[in-house]
Amino acid sequence: MTKREIHSSDLHIFNRLEFAYNKIRVFQANHNETEFKCLNSGKCCKIGLKIHLAECAHIAFRMRQEYYLRMENEGKDSADTWIESRIKALTDRMYDDSWDGDEQTTDLHCAFWDDGCTIYGYRPLVCRAYGTIIDVDVTCPRKRNDYGTIEHFAGKSVEDSVQEFQLTLKQYAEYNGKSPEYDVVIYMPLGVLSFLLDEVQLEELYQQTKDEMWEGYEGWFNYQSTFTKLHGFKDEFIEAEAKLRGMIVNKEGKLQREEDVNE
Ligand code: SF4
Repeated sequence: MTKREIHSSDLHIFNRLEFAYNKIRVFQANHNETEFKCLNSGKCCKIGLKIHLAECAHIAFRMRQEYYLRMENEGKDSADTWIESRIKALTDRMYDDSWDGDEQTTDLHCAFWDDGCTIYGYRPLVCRAYGTIIDVDVTCPRKRNDYGTIEHFAGKSVEDSVQEFQLTLKQYAEYNGKSPEYDVVIYMPLGVLSFLLDEVQLEELYQQTKDEMWEGYEGWFNYQSTFTKLHGFKDEFIEAEAKLRGMIVNKEGKLQREEDVNE
């Protein structure tokens, strides 16, 4: 298992991600003025997310920054204790037997949950989308309208924001030579750990954990969450982008290398 690296060109990607996040922050702030606002129950954080590696890299980068800030303000021992506790939380989730392998069911909270989101300022877009630009599920205790749903934002400005986000993932893939190691949709704890652990630690983790924790989908176009399906690029565009990389839609609706589908 290769340790992944953050490159200087990624800083542009992180800024571009923040740009997309800021747009959703505005929707979220407006949403919080309505009766359908988030009640901070944390119930939606009982989830094992699969996200694109570009967002994992951003999270790892911001965690490293926080580490150095803590070192400066509190000393090295305190910074080490903090990062070790974060890495332990991420590693623990690699042993989550209750996770269904595709982001939905798990008995445990997200690795970043600790009586609140510990990466709230740089959490991924899927967390910002929930209840803001998509509907919520039965776990969410917030108020519903007469149809049993919530009012959420939609329309051209939402579509522009989500498509800007998708193009940012695409650019990250291009900056990294479209390598399947970097252009991949992956279990978030593993994606973040792959920037924080060394090769020996990653190999040990690989030997001790189930294969499904390590399974990813190659290609930014395979990051298909409810919010991208609702507001992002249409199927024709996504499939055309995948085709340029020699991929077609398989039986599960995922985009896969043509030779692997036909095996
Ligand atoms: S990253 Fe934060 S907001 Fe998203 S699921 Fe994890 S704890 Fe919840």
